Amino acid sequence: MHKNPARLHSFELSFGKAQVFYPEASEDRCTAVLLLDVDPVGLVRGKRGQHEGGTLDQYVNDRPYVLSSFLSVAMGRAFGTAMSGRSKGRQELADQAIPLTAKLAVVACRSGERLIRELFEPLGYSVSCQHFPLDEKFPEWGDGPYYSVTLAGTVRLRDLLNHLYVLVPVLDAEKHYWIGKAEVEKLLRKGEGWLASHPHKEAIVKRYLPRQRQLAREALAQLAEEDNPDPDAAAEQNSEQEMKMEEPIRLWQQRMGAVTAVVRAAGAKRVLDLGCGEGKLLRELLEEKGLTEIVGMDVSYRSLEIASQRLKLDRMPAKQKERLKLMHGSLMYRDKRLAGYDAATVVEVIEHLDAPRLAAFERVLFEAARPKTVVVTTPNAEYNVKFETLPAGKFRHKDHRFEWTRKQFEEWSARVAGRFGYGVRFLPVGEEDAQVGPPTQMGVFTL
Ligand code: SAH
Repeated sequence: MHKNPARLHSFELSFGKAQVFYPEASEDRCTAVLLLDVDPVGLVRGKRGQHEGGTLDQYVNDRPYVLSSFLSVAMGRAFGTAMSGRSKGRQELADQAIPLTAKLAVVACRSGERLIRELFEPLGYSVSCQHFPLDEKFPEWGDGPYYSVTLAGTVRLRDLLNHLYVLVPVLDAEKHYWIGKAEVEKLLRKGEGWLASHPHKEAIVKRYLPRQRQLAREALAQLAEEDNPDPDAAAEQNSEQEMKMEEPIRLWQQRMGAVTAVVRAAGAKRVLDLGCGEGKLLRELLEEKGLTEIVGMDVSYRSLEIASQRLKLDRMPAKQKERLKLMHGSLMYRDKRLAGYDAATVVEVIEHLDAPRLAAFERVLFEAARPKTVVVTTPNAEYNVKFETLPAGKFRHKDHRFEWTRKQFEEWSARVAGRFGYGVRFLPVGEEDAQVGPPTQMGVFTL
């Protein structure tokens, strides 16, 4: 945070004063407090003309007591370097996800606890909220809009600060400043790397830019682009190479057949295909008469468009169309739309996720969505020596973050199954070689 924890740090702001101090700074644990003194009288000084008739609420309001867009301004001043992720002496630490807890003393959220959870849970925080009565002397008045919120997660410090910077004003929804184009830029900058794939990004953008529909639309359009830094153009080319290499053994057809057979055997009626890509498996699943609902989800909008074209979604008979849904979403974030399915298939997807994302994915799928059956396939790295065109030590696809041996996949699967209360068994896909095993490995997890 670039501050001496032994000192008190003060910042003068147009609306009051911010102070930063450290109640605790030991080897194991450090607590930083940002204390905001908002001066409500100072706020209206010089603005009287606008409030002709002078209602009392410009002097008596909750602004000094709740966290609002004033907090973001103060954070920008007090924690600017930390938010940018730069560190002079300890860059590795700044780049590392560490266990962090944020306590928001009081937020005003008229939309209730649900909004608080919807904003923070998809970012991987566990959220606890304490709701306060409007007036403790009059319990019959019910609860007010005020909450104390605690967020806990393993994230980089810059992520936590940027999340708060954007989402606290979104909760509060009362902006103290004029909203112009500069706010769009600020939102995109602070939201870089997480907002584009947040399942509630629309709500966030609209509430961040209230009453500015045009600006909100612009921001959303830019986010849509960021969300697809065209993983697709490169991925498409790479996938083609991968398919060509696997073609002689007709591997992808065997994979689709094997996965479909498991879904059928599980007796599933409603199934998710996560990371559905261009919809090869969806096509097979549509042939399964026992399936009443088939959902394809992918983070790449482009792939979904291609899937929609290949499946001829717009010309599909109504009955068939009702069974199939394509949705844009990310496996990094908890998503209520994924809950309650009989089965989920994750075909050749996990090897595209780097380690921290894989950990998030595990919770999103096995803890939050929690389908009764999960089918995961991934390349068997041991088999790579059999592909003549693949140089030794290379992955099958440029975007793969890893390719696992059977032992590695089985260990990962056993750990995940154990942690989330699933059983797991393994099935080979493609012709099994006596030494190196099958080309594709498949884990079937059941609750
Ligand atoms: N299952 C398909 C596609 C596999 S390629 C098939 O077997 O043909 C991997 C797919 O995972 C790509 O379409 C990619 O866009 C998708 N993907 C990668 N990361 C993702 C994420 N975080 N959330 C959802 N999909 C993701």
